[in-house]
Formats: sequence, structure tokens, C-alpha cells
Amino acid sequence: MEESGSRELYGRALSVLPGGVNSAVRAIRPYPAFIGRGDGGHVIDVDGNRYIDFVMGYGPLLLGHSPPEPVRAAVQSVASEGPMYGAPTEIEVELAEFVTRHVPSVQMLRFVNSGTEATVSAVRLARGYTGRDKIVTIQGGYHGANDSTLVEGEPGAAVPSTKGVPEAVADHTLPVPFNDEQAIDHVFEEFGTEIAAILVEPILGNTGIVEPAAGYLETLRSYCDETGALLVFDEVITGFRVGGLGCAQGKFGIEPDVTTFGKVIGGGYPVGAIGGPAEIIESFAPVGDVFQAGTFSGHPVTMAAGLETLRYAAEHDVYSTMNDLGETLRDGLRDLAEDRAPEYTVVGTDSLFKVIFTRRGRDVTNGADVNSAQTERWERLFRPAMKEAGVLLPANQLESQFICAQHTSEDIEETLEAYKAAL
Ligand code: PMP
Repeated sequence: MEESGSRELYGRALSVLPGGVNSAVRAIRPYPAFIGRGDGGHVIDVDGNRYIDFVMGYGPLLLGHSPPEPVRAAVQSVASEGPMYGAPTEIEVELAEFVTRHVPSVQMLRFVNSGTEATVSAVRLARGYTGRDKIVTIQGGYHGANDSTLVEGEPGAAVPSTKGVPEAVADHTLPVPFNDEQAIDHVFEEFGTEIAAILVEPILGNTGIVEPAAGYLETLRSYCDETGALLVFDEVITGFRVGGLGCAQGKFGIEPDVTTFGKVIGGGYPVGAIGGPAEIIESFAPVGDVFQAGTFSGHPVTMAAGLETLRYAAEHDVYSTMNDLGETLRDGLRDLAEDRAPEYTVVGTDSLFKVIFTRRGRDVTNGADVNSAQTERWERLFRPAMKEAGVLLPANQLESQFICAQHTSEDIEETLEAYKAAL
């Protein structure tokens, strides 16, 4: 495989970008493939190698790399009118109206520029709304580069998981295991009246993929109802991907108080959003006292891409096509695993999938189960073998993999062949 272009670019990148990348998760040894362009469900690197792409920008590209004509036209038209204004535009109202029509828990939204910004703002909102400081998070959950959630350990003994976060910030975070109702019971018993919010991905997508056990999200809902804490669903990955236009909350039938969005809602451009009932979301300035602002928030090009992507999804068989491909792929992977690697576990739902290299073959119920399956085999042998076979997977073995609407049955067949050879 010709890789001299990527190698040379990485050499230049190392001199001017820390680790040669702009997001820590993109660092791949010995060097990442530098992408030249996308094409449907594929990417082509600067050396001309073509890959079936399951990174899909880490989730935003619901419709793949070649936007359908209405999306492309809307983006080009809005961009040609001038980049942005720092003043309201019609398109942000339209996208907000679309989201509120399809997600029952959301009456109002504040758009921001990344999933991180959404979760940072949601935590501030929950604290401002409740007048409390503590946040319950899930061990193995990920909410972006957010000081309040870059925390590990146990409730009452949590510590920053990275340098640069003060211990005083970590003191306010109470990390509990996913799918563990007893842990929720304990944390509310000990800290109940101090808890502003439970912040949870309804499906763990970053240390995953782990789905909620029957009744778990309902339990979180009822603890919040009893204590006045806000239930915040981080749907940055699941939003408008799992459960279709109703999102994961629709699929599971649970209404959170606040939802954070990102990725798909911006159609491939930088985005985040915080949504919920007016009574809560209007705590944000200028109506309420929780400060929140952003130069680029509601960027017209992002809003156009997001709106047309979601409209397209509403008017075509996007979700059923993707989810069918997902099912075929997961079924095929299960057969392969049974045959060649019975100790491995195939996980995922809708258009998410992953093979967890767990050595025990047991059910995966929380982040620790996924973490215990971490292996050098992924980074040193498996991912490179898949790349060599023309299938691009995320650098991080714990992260979800994404199917898009432009993947084809042939892509799925080729992918299964590649897994067969590499597993
Ligand atoms: N929340 C979740 C659930 C995510 O998966 C991510 C990113 N993968 C974020 C928040 C942060 O989003 P961003 O990278 O856009 O800041």
C-alpha cells in the first residue's frame, strides 16, 4: 500500500501540531492516513488508497461523504451569501422548529459549536437552574473535553482524569457505573439534595457500545423526579441516529429534562445544542441568569447542513436502510465471532456496531466491561489489517463505529470478508 503522502504530511504536521493532530483521538501509530476526499461511504487518502469508512467523522455524517443534492445546494447557497453575521437568521429558527417537532422533550434549543460546548453549557444550566453543584456521571461515559466530566474514581473520591483540571472541580462530580441501580441509590442517599443533574449517554458510545438494561433509564428518571435533579441525556452520538428522528429517548420512551446534541444535527459542520422545555432552557441568558454565548453559534452554513440533512432523513428511507445494513453486518459479525473468536462480543444497535475484544465473552453491561477488553491486538494487528484490506476503523478501540446512508450491501459484504481475514 502506497503511503508516502501520508508519511510526509505527518512529518510536517509533527512540527506544527502537537502529536501531528488536532484532536487527541486521531493519533494513530505509526501515522494516520491523511484523507484527500470522501465519496459516499468511502474515503480516499492522499496516496489514492480507497477505504470503506466506518469512522464517518466520528458520527456526524449520517448521509455519508457525498451529500444528496438538496443538502449540497443549501450549503452552497447559504455559504455564497456570506459566511456569518453575529445576528439571527431564518435558518436557525427553522432547524430549531424541526427539532422541536420531532423530539417531544424539546420545546426550545440553544445552538452552540460542538458537543463539548453543549455538555459544558448543560452542566452550567443544571447548576444554575437547581442551585446545586454536584453532577452524577457514568464511569466510561464521555461528554467531550469538559472539565466537570474528565473525572474518574468513585462518588466522593473522584479525581481529574487529566492534568489541568483542578481537584476542586472533580470534587463536584460523582461517577457511578452504568446499569447499576444500587450505585444510583447510594449516590442519591449520600448526596441527594446536592445533586444538580445526572448526565448520561442513553447508550454508552465512547466506551461501548453498551445499551441500557431494562428499567435503568426509568430508574434514573424517577430519582430525578423525586429529588429535583435534572436528567440530562447526552445524545451527541445517538441524537438523530439511534431511534431515527425521535432520537434514543424516543426509542427507549424516556423524556429527559435536558438533551445535548451534536454531530448529526449539524450535517457534518461544527455544532452542538442544548434542548429541553422552555421553563428550563429559558434559564439561559438573555431570559435567565445562566450566561451562555458564542460568536459562531447558529452558524448559517451549519444550520443549513443540519436542517437539510434532517429533512432528507425525514423524507427518505434513510434510517431503515442504515439500520438494515447494521443488522446484516452485526449478524454476519456474530456468525464470524462464533466461528473464529467465540470470546469476542458483537455490540451495537441501529447504525452503530463494534466487536469488543473481551476475553471472557460475557455480557457487556458497563464501561468497565468494555475497558477490560482493551488489547494491543487492536492497535498493532487488527486495525492495521483492516486498513490494509480497505476498511477504515476508528483509532480508539473503545469508540463506536458508524454506518451511513451511502454504505451499500457490497460494502457490508466486503467488510465481513475483511473481518473474516483479520479476526
Ligand atoms: N458527548 C458525546 C456522547 C460524544 O460522543 C462526544 C464526542 N465524541 C462529545 C460529547 C463531544 O463532542 P465534540 O467532540 O463535538 O466536542
